[in-house]
Amino acid sequence: MTGGSNLSPETLAIGHGYDPATALGAAKPPAYLASTFVYPSAQAAKDLHQAFFDGADNGATGYIYGRLGHPGLDIVETRLAALDRGEASAIFATGMAAISAVFLAFLAPGDVILHSRPVYGGTDMLITSELSRLGIRSVGISDGIDRSALMRDAEAAADAGPVRVIWAETPANPTAALVDLSLLGEAADRIAERQGFRPLIGIDNTFLGPFVQTPLALGADLCMTSLTKYAGGHSDLLAGGISGSEQLISRLKAFRTLVGSTLDAHSAWLLARSFETMALRTERAADNAAKIAATLRGHPKVASVTYVGFTPHQSVLERQCRGAGSTFSFRLSVDEAEGEAAAFRLLDALKVMRVAVSLGGTETLICHPATTTHYAVPRERRVAAGITDATLRISVGLENVRDLTSDLETALEAV
Ligand SMILES: *Cc1c(COP(=O)(O)O)cnc(C)c1O
Repeated sequence: MTGGSNLSPETLAIGHGYDPATALGAAKPPAYLASTFVYPSAQAAKDLHQAFFDGADNGATGYIYGRLGHPGLDIVETRLAALDRGEASAIFATGMAAISAVFLAFLAPGDVILHSRPVYGGTDMLITSELSRLGIRSVGISDGIDRSALMRDAEAAADAGPVRVIWAETPANPTAALVDLSLLGEAADRIAERQGFRPLIGIDNTFLGPFVQTPLALGADLCMTSLTKYAGGHSDLLAGGISGSEQLISRLKAFRTLVGSTLDAHSAWLLARSFETMALRTERAADNAAKIAATLRGHPKVASVTYVGFTPHQSVLERQCRGAGSTFSFRLSVDEAEGEAAAFRLLDALKVMRVAVSLGGTETLICHPATTTHYAVPRERRVAAGITDATLRISVGLENVRDLTSDLETALEAV
């Protein structure tokens, strides 16, 4: 699949999808803040509806009503598709709206979803509560790097099947565990032999983003990104995108029109602007993160650092990724019973880093997962996922790395 151009992603991120001739020559895309669009004539209205709902090839183009699509949405979808190297993209109001659309549009009662572990908390709850309420069962992947373990999980899923979706997050948060995408393709083939059709492979690419990892080029059918994070990049918008083939994406857009989870015009405008600096931000944040991870790894008050760059599976990392991202976790070197108090002392002593959930903003954010992002996850499952009471997660931003390092080192003294 191609993004319709052989230009580099850094170039595509600046202007792809916007033609100034469509907007009085405005050098930058305007924010089209309109919920509805005026038809030039009654016949044009009919033609447009025929084209939109029946796919009639009558040459009609234009917009109808914001929930069905709008000019700002077209710009960001065209751009995201090019960055993800997909034929098309659909952008939703949030990342969870995008994930829900995949699950609800492609799964039916009695189906099985095979998924990596751990997955994002919202995804986990969606699978275990809403999908299971609809009679959609799930099978977890125990190890995404080990071929025989993965094939066993694939067989188990096929036994319970039909398996219609394979969903993986690689690298996983906060374990930094990788899933080998070529093995995932083999698992899909194995399942296809059993049930006569191949499950869709969807990858949550939020942690690395399109400048570091392009799952569609590695055999995935769908690439999902919470654009709230690195793409938005300034912690001031919510959005979620999915790229893939024209056929799969048009199904998701039809679903989106009915559930009403379309991205709004103002967020689309912010997002188009944010894409322009995404390559630079991604690169600087990754440089800063590598330095901070190295500082923490050698620090006497830190027991371990779970950073993708430190993975023992370097060959998988090199095959799939062009970097290690800038969000990771670390564990303080204290007794488990002391973990929460020690982590709180560190957080409250920070002057530059801000204590908040989320990631991918210009500012460095840090949080205590056990009492925030994973608050609702039972302790046993939390610890199995590598989150102890002494674990902290950091999303490294674009500040001067010396300021960040000294902020962290000073705060570690309070531990
Ligand atoms: C934040 C996040 C999501 C959900 O995105 P929202 O925009 O918050 O709905 C999904 N997956 C991962 C890995 C995330 O970090």
